Amino acid sequence: MYQNIIIGAGASGLISAICLARKGETVLLLEKNRVVGKKLLATGNGRCNITNKNIDSLRFHSSNISFIKEIIKDFNFNKIESFFNSIGIILIELKDGKVYPMSLKASSVVDILEYEVKALGVKICCETLVKEITKENNQFIVTINSIKDLSETMALASSNSGAKAPLPSLEYKSKKLIIATGLEASSQLGGSSFGLDIASSFNHPIIATLPSLVQLCSKEDYLKYLVGVKQEGSVSLTANGEFISQIRGDVLFTKYGVSGLAVLDISREVSLRLNNYEYCLLNIDLMPDINKNQLVQLLSSRLDNKSDKPILLWLEGFINKKLAKVIIDKSKIESKILKNLNKKDINKIVYIIKNLSLEIDSTKGFDGAEVSAGGVDTKYINPKNMSSLLVDNLYFTGEILDVDGDRGGYNLHFAWLSGIRVSL
Ligand SMILES: Cc1cc2nc3c(=O)[nH]c(=O)nc-3n(C[C@H](O)[C@H](O)[C@H](O)COP(=O)(O)OP(=O)(O)OC[C@H]3O[C@@H](n4cnc5c(N)ncnc54)[C@H](O)[C@@H]3O)c2cc1C
Repeated sequence: MYQNIIIGAGASGLISAICLARKGETVLLLEKNRVVGKKLLATGNGRCNITNKNIDSLRFHSSNISFIKEIIKDFNFNKIESFFNSIGIILIELKDGKVYPMSLKASSVVDILEYEVKALGVKICCETLVKEITKENNQFIVTINSIKDLSETMALASSNSGAKAPLPSLEYKSKKLIIATGLEASSQLGGSSFGLDIASSFNHPIIATLPSLVQLCSKEDYLKYLVGVKQEGSVSLTANGEFISQIRGDVLFTKYGVSGLAVLDISREVSLRLNNYEYCLLNIDLMPDINKNQLVQLLSSRLDNKSDKPILLWLEGFINKKLAKVIIDKSKIESKILKNLNKKDINKIVYIIKNLSLEIDSTKGFDGAEVSAGGVDTKYINPKNMSSLLVDNLYFTGEILDVDGDRGGYNLHFAWLSGIRVSL
């Protein structure tokens, strides 16, 4: 019997294990992957954007904003920095307040967290899939499928040709239970909805989950000419014709639609609207630093009424060749050479450059998403220590809760701070 069982050795599970063990409590950490921190290794493109210098409730999303305000109180950048310093990880700030380990390696974050967990005497069981949790006589009973034990058992059974093999141990008990399983985002890294099933079985209401920080899919025919093109732009979203939001950044054109930082940043809103069956249109301004009139002037100044230069080549002087082709195709200009281009043609070209539109049909779903929005309703969680207000000694940390953050270190910040709070 352990004082604590933590399900999930991701960001929030590992940090809770350290904080609880530092208090002298016994901890069992169960993880279905072969290793701990598999998702962490993929964060920040392998560099792990640990947190952000500018922690503000406006950077987080939830159906219960007052929970966020409460939970980040006194748990700003400094709090997370001092935890990481305490385990020997030094942080550095790069662009836009984004904070990384000084090694710029997510693997060093995982290695050091794992060392600390083990050094504090926490028992870690990887390849252990939690199947069911019940509560009897003030104890949680956690039923597991040890993937390793099961495969060994099966191998033994077949080598003994039918002899009865010992069954793997199937149950662990604890006083406190911490659900740190994350949500459905990136199932290839361990994402699953298992934690929601457990929360529901203990009567915790759930806010519907949606993929966020995710690529967007479109069937626009012109995309096939743009695969691989990356362009800085300003992306605006309209849903059912109503302007929703506008974000500046990279847009990466792909076979299935669009990705890139601006697209990921706007994807939460798109996900919400698509889920509501709304008609979503992205308008990309491919030259956001030049206003319409300036652009008309700039292009007009390069007209030449004697030149036989192909207009594709002329436009290539201003913008990526593949985009130039799409802009010319979409503007349906009849003239193919520069000397035939007129003022109206220029206006059409400018219109397309400032308003390249894509109808969005869907997102790349949870498997493509960095995070899941929605989760366990925080109205029934104590923001001081993440305990359930419905079930004694039950706790939830990290993404499983109905809190998600913007790109830039906010999601991990929430995972760390909720993990630390469990020990308070
Ligand atoms: C590619 C990618 C890059 C990202 N980059 C960043 C970044 O740079 N900065 C940032 O702030 N955020 C980033 N995020 C988001 C961030 O990683 C997550 O929000 C954060 O890891 C959530 O932590 P968690 O502890 O709640 O869950 P997780 O880290 O997802 O951990 C949950 C663990 O529970 C385990 N588990 C689930 N079900 C079971 C079960 N039944 N039995 C046993 N174990 C189980 C899973 O295998 C997993 O290891 C990124 C996400 C992805 C996918």
